[in-house]
This record gives sequence, C-alpha cells and structure tokens, in this order.
Amino acid sequence: MGDRAVFTFSPGPAIMPNSVLEQLAESIIDYNGTGISIAEVSHRSREYTGSDSTRGIFPHTRTAFKELLNVPDNYEIIFIGGGASSEFGNIVRNLVPKGGLAQYINTGNWSQQAYSTAKVFEDGGLVQRIESIGGIEEIDDLKTLRQIPPGEINPDAAFVHITPNETIGGIQYQTFPNTGKVPLVADMSSEIFTREFGINDFGAVYACAQKNFGLPNLSVVIIRKDLLGDVLPGTIPVEDYKTLAEKDSAINTPPVVEIYTAGLIAGYIKEQGGVEEMARQADERSGLVYRAIDKSNGFYISPVQPGVRSKLNIPFLLKDKSLEDTFKQEAKNEGLLELGGHRSVGGLRASMYVGMQIKGAEMLAHFMQYFAVKHG
Ligand SMILES: *Cc1c(COP(=O)(O)O)cnc(C)c1O
Repeated sequence: MGDRAVFTFSPGPAIMPNSVLEQLAESIIDYNGTGISIAEVSHRSREYTGSDSTRGIFPHTRTAFKELLNVPDNYEIIFIGGGASSEFGNIVRNLVPKGGLAQYINTGNWSQQAYSTAKVFEDGGLVQRIESIGGIEEIDDLKTLRQIPPGEINPDAAFVHITPNETIGGIQYQTFPNTGKVPLVADMSSEIFTREFGINDFGAVYACAQKNFGLPNLSVVIIRKDLLGDVLPGTIPVEDYKTLAEKDSAINTPPVVEIYTAGLIAGYIKEQGGVEEMARQADERSGLVYRAIDKSNGFYISPVQPGVRSKLNIPFLLKDKSLEDTFKQEAKNEGLLELGGHRSVGGLRASMYVGMQIKGAEMLAHFMQYFAVKHG
C-alpha cells in the first residue's frame, strides 16, 4: 500500500494508519503463520492469552497501553466489548454507591449523553442524584469553557465526569478541572493517545476504539484499583470492572480482532515516537486547518473560542451556507471524504485522529484555500 489517495475525515470509525491496515489484512488471512485467521483465534488459546514462550495478543495490547500511557501498577486496564456509550452506564454501576451521587460537567453533546444515560439510575432510587453542572458558555457567539468554581463540586460525589474533547462541538479542555478529593472520570474517546496526561489525576478514564485505536465496539477503561469493589444491585458480571480485571477482560468471548488491532495501533504509536509525538502531530494537523479558517477573511467561520479549540475535531461553517454541498462534493472529488458536520448541528467538520497523516491535513488545508478563492 503506497501513499493514500483518499483521506476520510470521519469522526469515527476513523482513518487508520496504512501499516496497520496491511498487518491486519495479512492476519485476517493467516495470523502469524498459524494457518488460521485472526478472526478464528480462540480467546482461550495461547496465541491470545500468551504463555512462557509466546507473547499473546491480550498481554501484548495491555502492556503496550500501559507503557504508552505510563499507567502505574495501582490502576487496572480493562478491555470491554461495546462502545463508550456502554461505559456511560458501567461507570455508574461500578463507581457510585447505592444512594450516592455523581456530578457531570456539561460541555456539549457527549457529556450530555453521558449524563442522561447516568440519570437512568435515579429511577427506582438506585442512586440518589445525578447532577449536571455547566462547563460551557458563549461569549461573542463563540463557545468557550467556564471554570467550575470549587463550591460547585460536591465533596460527597462519587466522581465528577468530564468529556475533555467534545467530538461534535469541537471544544477541548487544555488543562483539566481541579476536583479536589473527588475523583475525576473522563470520557477520552476522541482524544486518547493524542495528548499527554497524567493518569494519576483521574479516578478513571475510558475511551472507545474507533477514533484513536482501531475498530468499533471495543472500549478501554483505566481505573484506580481502590475504586473497584461494590457495584450497584443488578450489575451482571460482564459489566463489573473488578471481575473483568480479575479475569483479564475475558469473562465471555472478548472482541479478539479489535483487541489485536488496538495492539497494532499501539505499535504504530510507539514507532512514531509515542504519545508526545502524537500530540505534536495533532497540533500540526489542526494548526494547518485552523490557519486555513482564520486566514480566509471570514469565508470560513469557527464557532469555538481559539483558546479551547479541539485539536481532533474541527467544526466550521461557510459564511455562505448555500455552498456547503458544493464544498463537500468538490472535496470528495479531491479524495477528501466525510467533511459534513454532525447531523444534529450541520455545517462542516474535519476529524483528524491518530491515524491521519499530516499529508491529509495539508491536502484539506490546500483544498480549503483553493475553494475560498474559487467561490469567494
Ligand atoms: C464517539 C464518542 C462516543 C460514543 O462512542 P460509541 O462507541 O459510539 O458508543 C462517546 N463519547 C465521545 C466523546 C465520543 O467521541
């Protein structure tokens, strides 16, 4: 596979590195010379679990995550079938005690989704209260993040939940809010591996795979061990983080191909230079596109304050809205796909995660300049 001719800016499932696609394609036919496909590898086999002499798909992926994210031994790394949306429920089952409460900082669509899912547990009184506190505001028609004053954090809360990068709104915390002694829980679905962070600042972080580490329907949960234990009544084993951790994430059949692919992407990140280099690339890619917006004399408009703009998801508008379909069509003709905004907000959006080569961002920035000159 040479250089790509077509780049997808889809918010997820997202573009993957060429080298990963090649390894995956090979393994689909014959995994590591075994004569069987990776799709046929048993989760109870030595290929998967590892042994003294073989590395094992699962320990390989888990160790790679541990190293890349500097996860210390007092945290568990769990892989779990299902999307980030499943974890919206599981974090409540596992972290909020019966009759307890949790707070959610609302910064846009995904934090609201996490919040409204958590609200379900209030019915029947399993938890006492799920509370939303506002973290977003508008200044001069531009979205920005509001500091949460310490008084708004309830010291009795089991956790405070944030969505550090809002995939749809394109707004991103540059530094995380300080919640004092209350554990911070973060949905890092759209930014994991693209920024450096200290896991010690969090009680738990979770992320789905299809943005920054591969295929849909797999999530990772990294959680401080002392937070594991009692779960809410009605929690079944496959939702129970402690049981999952004890069973190496294989209570039932885990998504073997997805966990294998996550390991391939982790290998790619390592080869590139680790998370530090991924953060640099996210800076460079997003910088190219934001410059194309900011230097367009108002032809393109960003709805987000410059200080809190996302480095992964860049929503933008055309001053002349009637050109939107033409923009998407002409971009497509150039091999630049999936630039439509989310169906709930419209406009345009470029999503660029771990797998997006700098070249893709350059091509998009060039196309935007060309399009502005042609239609401006
Ligand atoms: C994509 C996304 C989700 C939803 O993930 P699913 O795997 O579709 O459930 C949740 N949170 C954020 C921040 C996302 O970007």
